[in-house]
Amino acid sequence: MEEIKLAVIGKGGVGKSAITIRYVQDVYAEYYDSTIDDSKRKQTTVDENSYVLDIFDPPAQDEYSSLREAYRYDTRGFLFLFSLTDRLSFEQISVLHAQLLKDKDSDEVPIILMGNKSDLIDKRVVTSMEANELASKMKCMYIETSARSGDGVEHAFEEIVRCVKSV
Ligand code: GDP
Ligand code: MG
Repeated sequence: MEEIKLAVIGKGGVGKSAITIRYVQDVYAEYYDSTIDDSKRKQTTVDENSYVLDIFDPPAQDEYSSLREAYRYDTRGFLFLFSLTDRLSFEQISVLHAQLLKDKDSDEVPIILMGNKSDLIDKRVVTSMEANELASKMKCMYIETSARSGDGVEHAFEEIVRCVKSV
């Protein structure tokens, strides 16, 4: 079975670990300590093909070193995660994306942009419209997720597999 390595990239606190645990175990881990084990695996079927997804959930607070770490793991797809409740986390995505393109020296890197914590409706500070605008600049798909409710999570992982398989 083909193995696909993925990495979840984004500012500390946006929900990288919560999203990974939600996807792999289908539970909401409010206080999960990802420093215990930062690589998670799950078998899945997308478009009638089976894969093992190996997901790197960086424990580091420094997003740049997380990116570099992801390259070392031979990552094929990047899930760029920000929190819909944290504007700084959204603004940082452009910077991280530029860094990725520069490092990879390619604009065909498989990426999905994810806006997490969609359940926190009252605390939301980033609109779908601006996130969609960013995604079109990044030439990727934008998906809103909630690790808490599970909304959008399966969809995001399915789409990143499609991106990886289409390059
Ligand atoms: P990380 O630093 O990016 O790995 O973020 P964590 O996964 O540790 O999550 C940081 C905090 O945000 C924790 O308190 C989580 O419970 C919370 N959190 C993560 N995802 C969601 C979500 O979708 N909805 C809500 N309401 N809280 C979330
Ligand atoms: Mg974490």
